[in-house]
Amino acid sequence: MTIFVTGHSNPDTDSVTAAIGLAALLNAQGKDAKACMQSSLENLNPESTVVLERFGLTAPEEMMDVAGKTVALVDFSDIGQAPANITDAEVVTIVDHHKVGDVTTNQPILVRVEPVGCTGTVLNKMYKDAGVAVPKDVAGGMLSAILSDTVNFKSPTCTDDDKAAVAELKVTAGVEDTDSLFMEMLKAKSSVDGVPAKDLLFRDYKDFDMNGKKVGVGQLELATLDQVAAIRDDLLAAAQEVKADGRHTVLLMLTDVVKEGTDLVVVSDDEALIEGAFGAKLDGGTSMWVDGMMSRKKQVVPDLQKAFGC
Ligand code: MG
Ligand code: MG
Ligand code: MG
Repeated sequence: MTIFVTGHSNPDTDSVTAAIGLAALLNAQGKDAKACMQSSLENLNPESTVVLERFGLTAPEEMMDVAGKTVALVDFSDIGQAPANITDAEVVTIVDHHKVGDVTTNQPILVRVEPVGCTGTVLNKMYKDAGVAVPKDVAGGMLSAILSDTVNFKSPTCTDDDKAAVAELKVTAGVEDTDSLFMEMLKAKSSVDGVPAKDLLFRDYKDFDMNGKKVGVGQLELATLDQVAAIRDDLLAAAQEVKADGRHTVLLMLTDVVKEGTDLVVVSDDEALIEGAFGAKLDGGTSMWVDGMMSRKKQVVPDLQKAFGC
């Protein structure tokens, strides 16, 4: 019996490297496990591609449907972010750092969810608890994921546990300068040259059910907003197009990692609700600057849930 380990749809670096990391840990414990991802390698986001290359990691196998399979979930537990037919799969493990989602099981399973900045941080603890050394290449992947998810420690989701994990993993991975690793990833992640606006919107995008309304939130982390100045109208048009496909609201977070704030592009049936959610006014009806907004998970989603009465 093979355990297929997968992260969420539109996989980010944490989903990719945590699948690799948990599969490697299960293998070290004598279990048959395989890392998977909900993407082909050629469609994988550029940041994760750089990370896989830099640390010589084998890309997880593409898996979009898990009917009849035994699976472990990393970095999510929402059915909406799962491969097709997740309800016909047997979920045996969940390792995550998000709010607990709506996946259910028939049997008791191993669940390890902690309020930290990254699944990589939780996994690092699991390796220690199991007395298994993190392989060098896997450590590089987990390290990269923590830097990415915590935006190099600047995100409000970052905890002391994440910093401690980075301090350990960088030694194992042989990385001296984590700032330059982060900038290398940011450069890859924020490159927009020649990429269609809709692909940029979906690069790091999640749909949420907000009290029966479908709300999509995408995020582009940028070194400067100048990077998207020339394509703002295209991004707005892409958001409008995605909203027209049965959504109440589509938000695109254009996050300036250096200024530590977000230019939030808003397309919504209820703009006043969105303004109320974030305590800011729409500038020209389509976007607003929200100082300090860095995290979809810790800031945007909870504020939206409150505003939508979830
Ligand atoms: Mg993720
Ligand atoms: Mg994560
Ligand atoms: Mg993320």
